[in-house]
Amino acid sequence: METKDMLESFGLSKETIALGEKFEAELKERFEEIDRTAEYNQLKVIKAMQDNRLSDIHFAATTGYGYNDIGRETLEKVYASVFHTEDALVRPQITCGTHALTIALAAILRPGDELLSPVGKPYDTLEGVIGIKEQKGSLSEFGVSYRQVDLLEDGSFDYEGIRKAINTKTKMVTIQRSKGYQTRPTLSVERIGELISFIRSIKPEVVIMVDNCYGEFVEKKEPSDVGADLCVGSLIKNPGGGLVASGGYIAGKTEYIESCAFRLTAPGLGKEVGATLGINQSMFQGLFLAPTVVASALKGAIFAARIYESLGYKCIPNGTEPRYDIIQAVTLGSADKLIAFCGGIQAASPVDSFVVPEGWAMPGYNSDVIMAAGNFIQGSSIELSADGPITEPYAVYFQGGLTWYHAKLGILTSLDRVLKTAKD
Ligand SMILES: *Cc1c(COP(=O)(O)O)cnc(C)c1O
Repeated sequence: METKDMLESFGLSKETIALGEKFEAELKERFEEIDRTAEYNQLKVIKAMQDNRLSDIHFAATTGYGYNDIGRETLEKVYASVFHTEDALVRPQITCGTHALTIALAAILRPGDELLSPVGKPYDTLEGVIGIKEQKGSLSEFGVSYRQVDLLEDGSFDYEGIRKAINTKTKMVTIQRSKGYQTRPTLSVERIGELISFIRSIKPEVVIMVDNCYGEFVEKKEPSDVGADLCVGSLIKNPGGGLVASGGYIAGKTEYIESCAFRLTAPGLGKEVGATLGINQSMFQGLFLAPTVVASALKGAIFAARIYESLGYKCIPNGTEPRYDIIQAVTLGSADKLIAFCGGIQAASPVDSFVVPEGWAMPGYNSDVIMAAGNFIQGSSIELSADGPITEPYAVYFQGGLTWYHAKLGILTSLDRVLKTAKD
């Protein structure tokens, strides 16, 4: 049996398979470039593991307080090596990306301080954390103020606005690398570096945090290589490599990591406690796999963008521009196509392939939202997943793919269904 026949056995039409072959062939050079970045990052991770003398003993479980968990301590050293930072906090007790970011914000900011976002509105879940949206327990409730400078129309930094926004109260700056689910461009590490230099030229002592979600290992450099004091992210996204069941990380300066640890556990206890209950091995192995997993997700995103834009759908980013995160948006233009797309991603999943996703009234949204995810880890968005609000302009956001072959199957299956919907 040929691979083509296997694809047909998933119900794909010859037309869809042919489209896939055409664009895969066209993308050969682009994919090679992605592989070269993945190789560099793979070497960076192996080097970090070797330099920190990673050994079988580090995979053992600890319980209770988790004192002297040398696996956990080594994992944090390995992360610090990968991110070229003084220290890191990498824990299964950090429940998600929002939690990791909240820890960092609450660790640094004190009543009377001000937080600045020079890149526009942060990720939705942070609105309540900061207090942009009223929320019990927000930073605002603790007397921390917030200021925001939006990007200019063309996506560039509003340097004049940023200069004006920085004042004596400005203690911390938060920079979101990925566009998340907004339409602004994702920031390259180079651009983040330029922004950081500008901010430091005005106020050198300000603490600069980068929300690194979805950006890890997409480039050879990380924001900590260009001056960020703290890099923060989720382990059920890129750096977990699809293997980590739960967790988040914060990498940065020793002084700030200590504050983060005091906030996560308790002042005085900090990094000393936190049993790992046998999860260390997956944390190391996931990090080891992360560069190639991210490469697979990137290939899937570019493959989809190239195909869909050739069919006349608007794609952000488009199929040829450089990538700085793994998220792909495709504007499908109708509810039927959005539902068909998500149904295809679900049907191509290794888990729950028999489930049919439907729109539901998700809290915090004004319209029904449809989600597709046949995941090994609940909510993991480094695994192939798609979602979108069922309303104008009917855009689907999708990301992930632990292997390129799965990403390809998912995209072709969704394409097959969208094409059939268009014909009806
Ligand atoms: C995913 C993400 C977060 C955090 O989300 P969680 O669902 O809490 O892990 C924050 N910022 C960005 C840009 C993200 O993509």
